Amino acid sequence: MEKWQKSLQKSVKDVGLPAKLFNLPEDKLREVAHAFQFRVSPYYFSLLREKGDAIYRQCIPDELELEGSEKLMEDPLGEDESSPVPNIVHRYPDRCLFLVSNQCAMYCRFCTRKRKFGTRDRIDPSKLEAGFDYIRQHPEIRDVLISGGDPFLLEDSGIENILKRLRAVDHIQILRLGTRTPCVLPERITVKLTRMLKKYHPLFINVHFNHPDELTPQAVKALARLADAGIPLGSQTVLLKGINDDPIVMRLLMQKLLAARVRPYYIFQADLVYGTEHFRTPISKGLEIMRQLRGWTSGLAVPYYVVDLPGGGGKIPLLPEYVRNVEDHNIVFSNYCGQVCSYPDFTGDGKAGMSSDSVQPKQKNN
Ligand SMILES: *Cc1c(COP(=O)(O)O)cnc(C)c1O
Ligand code: SF4
Repeated sequence: MEKWQKSLQKSVKDVGLPAKLFNLPEDKLREVAHAFQFRVSPYYFSLLREKGDAIYRQCIPDELELEGSEKLMEDPLGEDESSPVPNIVHRYPDRCLFLVSNQCAMYCRFCTRKRKFGTRDRIDPSKLEAGFDYIRQHPEIRDVLISGGDPFLLEDSGIENILKRLRAVDHIQILRLGTRTPCVLPERITVKLTRMLKKYHPLFINVHFNHPDELTPQAVKALARLADAGIPLGSQTVLLKGINDDPIVMRLLMQKLLAARVRPYYIFQADLVYGTEHFRTPISKGLEIMRQLRGWTSGLAVPYYVVDLPGGGGKIPLLPEYVRNVEDHNIVFSNYCGQVCSYPDFTGDGKAGMSSDSVQPKQKNN
C-alpha cells in the first residue's frame, strides 16, 4: 500500500471527533453525515484552526445542509439527463466529461455532486466500458475531461489504464484530469504518479482551491511536481459565502495559485444544489470580485467567472460592465478603477466598428 493510501485510511470519518473538538451536537452531525457522506483526510483536517474558518466550513457537516430550499435541486446541472451512457456527460460539441471515480479524499460540503456521496461503493472498472465505447463511437469528441469524484483516488494503474485507452482513440487530441488532491491530499502527487502521467501528453490538469490558506508548502510542492512533469495546470474555485466571498481573499488566492504555476481558470458561481444554500452568494458578489481582479493584478491571475446554468444550459461567463454608453462613433467606458474614458469608434471607411446593437450599455450608469 502506498503512503497516500495509508493516510486515506486514517481519514476522519466519524463525526464524534469534530463534535467533541468544536462542541457540536453529535446526533445532529450524525444525521447530516448520514445524508451526505463525511470524510476529511488527516492532512486537510490538520489545516483546521478554529470553528468557522475557511477550512472548517468546507469540510465539517452543518445542520443547514438538511434545510434545502425548494429552489434547489439534487442535480441542478441536469448531468444525469445529458448523460448518454453511464458516467459520460456530453453537453458541448467537441468534448465530454468522463466520471471515473465517486470517491474523494475529502467530501466538500458544498459539492455539486453531493447526491452521489450516498453511493458508497466504488465505480467498478467494468462500468466504464460503455463510456470508452461512447467516446470511440463519437469522432467529434476531441477532448475528454476525466473527473469524478476524484480520479486521483484511483491507483496509478487504474488512472494509467484510462489514459492509455483514451490515448489509443485517434480522434482524442487532449486529455484533461480534474482533481482536488493537491489541495486535500498532496501526498497523492508522487514522483511515480507524475512519471506515469507525462507519458500521456498533451495532458492538462485542473485543480481545485478555494482559499489562500490551502496553498501550504505541501500543496505548492505537489503542484510543482505536476508542473515539472510538463503538465499545464489550471484551477477552479467555487465562490462560497464565508469562505472566499471577499475580493481581497480571492485576489490573494489567485496570486498564490499563479505563483504555484497554476493559471486560474474558473471561478464558479455555486450551483443550485440541495443542501448548500448557506454557501450561496448573489451574482453581484462575483461581479464585484471580478472588478477587483482585472486591472488590479496580473491578467494571468484573472480567471473567468462562470455560472453553470441549471438543466444543462452550460457555463455562462459573466463580466462586470465596462461600457457606460454607446454614442455615434464613440463608446464611453469606465476603466478598472472607475475612471470614465471615451473611445472613438471609427474605421477607415468612416463607419463605426461597433453598432449600438452589438454593445448594450447597462441601463443604470453607476
Ligand atoms: C465544464 C464542462 C466541460 C468543460 O468545459 P470547458 O469550458 O471546455 O472547460 C465539458 N463538459 C461538461 C459537461 C462540463 O460541465
Ligand atoms: S473534491 Fe470535488 S467532487 Fe469531491 S467532494 Fe470536493 S467538490 Fe465534490
